[in-house]
Amino acid sequence: MVALPEITSPTLDAIEAAVVAAEALNPRRGYIGASSIGNPCERHLFYQFRMAHEPERFPGRILRLFDTGHAEEVRMIAWLRMAGVDVQDVDPETGDQWEVEALEGHFKGHLDGIITGLLEAPKTPHLLECKTHNAKSFAQLKKHGVAVAKPEHVAQMQVYMHLKSLTRAVYLAKNKDTDELYLERVHNDQAHALQLLAKAERIRDANDAPERIGDADSFACKFCDSHPLCHGGAPALRHCRTCMHSAWDKDGCWHCLRHDRELTVEDQRAGCPNHLYLPSLVNGEQIDADEKAETVTYRMADGREWVDGQERTAA
Ligand code: SF4
Ligand code: SF4
Repeated sequence: MVALPEITSPTLDAIEAAVVAAEALNPRRGYIGASSIGNPCERHLFYQFRMAHEPERFPGRILRLFDTGHAEEVRMIAWLRMAGVDVQDVDPETGDQWEVEALEGHFKGHLDGIITGLLEAPKTPHLLECKTHNAKSFAQLKKHGVAVAKPEHVAQMQVYMHLKSLTRAVYLAKNKDTDELYLERVHNDQAHALQLLAKAERIRDANDAPERIGDADSFACKFCDSHPLCHGGAPALRHCRTCMHSAWDKDGCWHCLRHDRELTVEDQRAGCPNHLYLPSLVNGEQIDADEKAETVTYRMADGREWVDGQERTAA
C-alpha cells in the first residue's frame, strides 16, 4: 500500500514557532526557586542557580501543557469561591501574585493564594497550592497522599507556610483527564521548612558543585537536564555566574570581586575576558595556577592539559 503523505499545516507550524519563541523571551530565573527546593539533587540545584548550562528547551506542545496547568489554577480558585471559600490569590498590599523571599533575595517563590473559610476549618487561614495531574499521577496521589506521591510539592508548601507564618496548607489537585478533584490539608512542619531553607543556603553559598546523587546510568540521573555537564564532560557556560570571581550580594544582587563592581543581570550574562571557571565546573583536575597571568591549568579527564584564561593571554 502506498503511504499517504504526512499532512502538514503552515498554521500549526506557525503556532509551534510562536509558542517556542514566546518562551525564549522569558528571562531565566536567577534565584533558587521554592518550587524546585524539594529536588533531591543539590548538585542540580547548584547548576541551575549558577546557570551553568542552558535551561531545558521544550517543544510547543509541552509549553502549551504547562500553560494549561496555569489556566486550570484559575478555574480551581473559581470553584473554591463557588463553594463559599474566601481566596486571596493576589497580595492586597501589592496587587500582584503573593511572593515569598529569603536568603537576601536569592530564594523566592510564588503562592497560588491564601484562603479562609475552608469548610473543614473555617477560622484557620490556609496556604493554597493548586496542581494538575495526569491520570497515573492522580491515582498515586489518591492512593498515597501528597507527602508520598509528590514530596517536592510538600517541600514547596512547607517553605511557603513557614515564610508566611501559616499553620496549614490546602493541596487542591485536579485530574486533567477526568476533572476529578482531590483535596488534602497539610500541617506546618517547622523542622522540615528549616531543613529546606538550610539546603537553599548551602546551594547559594557553594563554590563547589555538591556531590552527585547517582551514576551516569542511574534512574536519578538519566533524565536530568544537567546530565551532559554533570556526567558527560560538556563545558559549562562562560558568564559571571560560573566565574570564580563572582559572589552573591544583598537584595538578590551579584558582585564581581575581580573588578569590584555590582553585576547587573545583563553584566552577568555577558561576563568579561577575565572570566575563570569555578574549578568544579571543569571536567578535570586543577594542577597549576598563575596569579599574575590569571590562568588556571587543568589535567582534563581525557588526559590533555587545558589552561583556563589562555585565550585572553593569547589575544
Ligand atoms: S545528573 Fe544526577 S548527580 Fe548530576 S545533577 Fe543531575 S541528578 Fe544530580
Ligand atoms: S571577572 Fe568578569 S566574568 Fe568574572 S565575575 Fe567579574 S565581570 Fe564577571
